[in-house]
Amino acid sequence: MAQTKALKGFKDILPNEIHLWQRVEDVARDIFRRFAFFEIRVPVLEPTALFVRSIGADTDIVEKEMYTFNDKNGDSLTMRPEGTAPVLRAYVEHALHLKSKVARLYTIGPMFRHERPQKGRLRQFHQMSVEVIGAAGPLVDAELMAMAHMILARLGVSAALEINSLGCPDCRPAYNKALVDFLESRRDNLCDDCRRRLDKNPLRVLDCKNKKCRAEVEESPAITDFLCLPCGDHFAAVRAGLDAMAVPYRKNRFMVRGLDYYRRTTFELVTDQLGAQSAVGAGGRYDGLIESLGGAKNTPGIGFAIGMERLVLLLAANEPGQTPGIDLFIAGLGAAAGNYAFRLIHALRGIGISCAMDMDNGGLKSQMKQAGKAKAGHTLIIGDDELATGQAVLRNMASGEQRPAAIDDNDINTIATALAAEIQPGA
Ligand code: ATP
Ligand code: MG
Repeated sequence: MAQTKALKGFKDILPNEIHLWQRVEDVARDIFRRFAFFEIRVPVLEPTALFVRSIGADTDIVEKEMYTFNDKNGDSLTMRPEGTAPVLRAYVEHALHLKSKVARLYTIGPMFRHERPQKGRLRQFHQMSVEVIGAAGPLVDAELMAMAHMILARLGVSAALEINSLGCPDCRPAYNKALVDFLESRRDNLCDDCRRRLDKNPLRVLDCKNKKCRAEVEESPAITDFLCLPCGDHFAAVRAGLDAMAVPYRKNRFMVRGLDYYRRTTFELVTDQLGAQSAVGAGGRYDGLIESLGGAKNTPGIGFAIGMERLVLLLAANEPGQTPGIDLFIAGLGAAAGNYAFRLIHALRGIGISCAMDMDNGGLKSQMKQAGKAKAGHTLIIGDDELATGQAVLRNMASGEQRPAAIDDNDINTIATALAAEIQPGA
């Protein structure tokens, strides 16, 4: 038998939950517009090297999570695991720095990571991700966090903003050394992953989820004590910017993020309502990344991504599923009435009414059942008698109230206009 199930970690989004997805997207687009961001759409497939170079070879994503394969030409391709690298690639490829001093871009779409699926963690998931390219100042960092905060607030989702600074190539090496010195003495107490991280990517030990590792790093030196003067000033100004907008936040020195490209500011929006999958959104500054992807020297950049599945889970917790409905179902009984219904429905659709009918011309009982399942606000019943008298029956499906509706010899557009006015909500 043919395969009849979606792949593990790949999920259908059904009509009864789509309103939540649409609301998330509508709210986000509206807030992006207010903050003067423009949409960009980039491919789902990119050369593997793009992600290896930007995300970093020693990260979980590149080491274990990418969907990578050779295409028929033998080129190594990867299903994008995140949106930043493709957007930056597009920025460089199309020389978008010539179009405006600062590029403010957002994109919405599916990402792919081969992870262990669980609640709020899928293999195909969706992100709304945002990049600001060409602005180095700390107020942009604060502005981006405020935007993420505003999106969640408008959706009624409460998540705490946590911020940190990871320093820069000038100050991070000294911190790395201090951290490694500290952790080496406790190597035996760390999990296998962290022992490996200690050699390759020590910062990552700080955000290990393992309880024992967490306890070990509790006393570790704090990166914020090692920031060079410019990084320290930057971090202070980010916080001042947040204070100026009255955006609440807390510092979390253990938050290091899983991608290598971050510098200075990093942040996460966390909730306690999704178990281990606590991050609803996350981002940070990545000065230097654009240059490493072939862009102009010293181009600064910062971005964040919000996970849509997790947002939808938070929204769904507070509201039931909802089967979408239509304005009107037309039950045409018999060939002549069916034919009339077919013409009328097209006229109604032309003036904005959502309507459906049984194109297979079933009996009254079956058609009323279909009207119910379609969640129609009204049903218009037309049989031979109604055609002859020019009076159909219009039924309000919620109240059960029925009244006559004209379907006389007037032209079909006049009939449709009158009917549309009859069934407007509240009429
Ligand atoms: P996590 O720590 O949960 O693995 P991450 O650090 O890998 O998250 P990012 O790469 O920063 O996540 O992606 C930003 C957001 O995208 C996350 O905060 C989360 O909401 C969402 N996200 C990441 N991976 C997944 C996934 N596999 N399934 C669903 N949502 C995800
Ligand atoms: Mg992850």
